[in-house]
Amino acid sequence: MTSYVAAVFPGPNEPIEMREFPEPDLESGAALLHTLYSEVCGTDVHLHHGRLSDVPYPIIPGHVSVGVVAKTRGTLQTVTGDSIREGDIVTFLDVHETCNSCYYCLVANEPTRCPSRKVYGITYSANDGLLGGWSQAIYMKPGVKMIHFPKDLAAETFIGGGCGLVTALHAVDLAGIRLGESVAVMGAGPVGQSVVALASLSGAGEVIAVDGVKSRLDFAREMGATNTIDIGIGRPDRLELARSMTRGHGFDVVIEASGNPEAVSEALDIVRDAGRVIVCGHYTDNGSVGIHPHWQINRKHVELRGCWGSRYEHFHRGVEIAARFGSAKPWSRMASESYALADVATALEAVANRSAVKAVVRVSD
Ligand SMILES: [Zn+2]
Ligand SMILES: [Zn+2]
Repeated sequence: MTSYVAAVFPGPNEPIEMREFPEPDLESGAALLHTLYSEVCGTDVHLHHGRLSDVPYPIIPGHVSVGVVAKTRGTLQTVTGDSIREGDIVTFLDVHETCNSCYYCLVANEPTRCPSRKVYGITYSANDGLLGGWSQAIYMKPGVKMIHFPKDLAAETFIGGGCGLVTALHAVDLAGIRLGESVAVMGAGPVGQSVVALASLSGAGEVIAVDGVKSRLDFAREMGATNTIDIGIGRPDRLELARSMTRGHGFDVVIEASGNPEAVSEALDIVRDAGRVIVCGHYTDNGSVGIHPHWQINRKHVELRGCWGSRYEHFHRGVEIAARFGSAKPWSRMASESYALADVATALEAVANRSAVKAVVRVSD
């Protein structure tokens, strides 16, 4: 009988184990991928440290992956009606089991808040099978949304953008950037870098990256930032600089992608009156912050929106954007290192100690 090796997080702060899994039987509508690439990102570091809630350890991490279809059962199609056949190279939306029958799916129109929602590599247990990308094979449950991996898209570009690109696209959509507007991006990590790139592709006039790490600010310029603010200068000076960059008004749009609670308060200071603030940097609980409702929100007539996860449309467009603009925007260099599956602990360490923003797990090629 065929079996597959996968890397498993047995529990929070426990060492990674390599475990063997039997080849699964396919339900009708299911498929099995032989993994080509997966990613290691900051979310995996949080998972390893037990910083996300409702994680059913043991898990096989890896939520953004590329594989070759090894087996299918029944007829499988992409959303555009293309058949998915054995031998095709695909990637897939990690979010699954959004129910399309609950209050959030049907009334609130926000399936990212669907209580049935599951995520490969995060909220599926390894006890339920090969449901994460750090594995020689990944089980595609019936209904998992696969898309053919564009031939001219390099794995490094796709993984470098990966989940951060998809989240950034959702945030930029929510911001509704209009041609020529000024955009400040707080935090130049993986999400922030993609926000910079997408804001610049959206026709923003000025795109200002705000961070405390010079190399990140330099990289943001390559992603399309027209200027930067180093947080080392202190908040009053940053506010002054923000005003001087915007003829005294403040930014039309501020997108917070730093994960620092103080940045949310500062975003409300540097946005212009009647501007928009999007918060997408608080995927984990990083604490609270004081906000002055009169001066920072009500009187300013600010629109403040949270951005949780992403929908299929963001993933689908994210793949197309990575393929179309991957040569203009250096996503490939955000995932500078690639590692064998057996070395995934080293890859995780590199992301944890920030020597790499992201790492590619090259399972087979
Ligand atoms: Zn639902
Ligand atoms: Zn990720």
